[in-house]
Amino acid sequence: MIRVGIPNALFYYVYFPMWKAFFEELGLQVVTSGKTTKKLLDGGVREALADACVPVKVFFGHALSLKDKVDFLFIPRIVCLNKKTVYCPKFLGLPDMIRFGMENMPAVIDVRIDTRSKKNAVFRAYYSVGKLFNKKPELIVKAYLKAKHIQKVYQQYLRKGLQPPEAIELIFQNKKPRLTSQSGQLNFGIVGYPYVIHDQYISVDIVNKLRRMGVNVKTSDNLSPLNLKLQRYNTGKRFFWTFSERTLRAARYFSNQKKKLDGIIHLTAFGCGPDSIVDKFIQFDNGTNGIPFMSISIDEHSGEAGIGTRLEAFVDMVKRQKRSEQ
Ligand code: SF4
Repeated sequence: MIRVGIPNALFYYVYFPMWKAFFEELGLQVVTSGKTTKKLLDGGVREALADACVPVKVFFGHALSLKDKVDFLFIPRIVCLNKKTVYCPKFLGLPDMIRFGMENMPAVIDVRIDTRSKKNAVFRAYYSVGKLFNKKPELIVKAYLKAKHIQKVYQQYLRKGLQPPEAIELIFQNKKPRLTSQSGQLNFGIVGYPYVIHDQYISVDIVNKLRRMGVNVKTSDNLSPLNLKLQRYNTGKRFFWTFSERTLRAARYFSNQKKKLDGIIHLTAFGCGPDSIVDKFIQFDNGTNGIPFMSISIDEHSGEAGIGTRLEAFVDMVKRQKRSEQ
């Protein structure tokens, strides 16, 4: 059976359910690279350009780990999906970076998706991938519809409060999440890129760490597109990088939840150009409306102990502030 590799990084946290369902319905085997480990990240750091951001280094590590296990790597060139904002240039160059940046890599399935230039661009892209494998049109359409359905289910789980790794496990392994009971004393919003927040190695598993400290956590991924769309920010002009714009809107949304939220954390990626601006805008654009705010920068050397201590200190401070207000 033909094996298609999907690295567990970057878009994995957003589109994996759709991609997996599509390829499996076509009769192909999907192989993933598993969780990020030190060895895997070291491989990525070795292979990627030194000034690449951490998530791209992580992606390199995952792609490398799939090198001898698959016939193809699926790395679509997703440019724009909402006709307004585009994904950052690192995403656009990803297929080429993997193809030419490392030796003897499997063939890359590199399909361009840009909803600004073509009608039905997403369907056309999936169709062309199906055609690559000589599949019949009816089967490709069936696989696409199934993939869309699974993606919808995935998004519903996220809206209900599951985090992407939990929703993926629930869909494909029927594994119920362990720590979803929202019974903590505090409520935090975490904003940032999904591939930073939910990569449990580089984020030192921030979501579960906070839960263990008695904090209920909501992330940008739990917010509906409508909730995000309704947020306004005053940066003078539109942010044109998709994930950065989404982060800014999520921060705005959480800032408007003063009565329900006790803290906001922005998880930023070291080496990310857009993030340096996003973080400042979160702080300067009316701030976080008096809600305690902390930003944490993640890099390839982020230590469990260092980030754990900062989180504990932040949680303690918020608790003390809450007590003093009672
Ligand atoms: S938005 Fe930032 S973190 Fe994400 S891929 Fe681009 S540079 Fe890297």
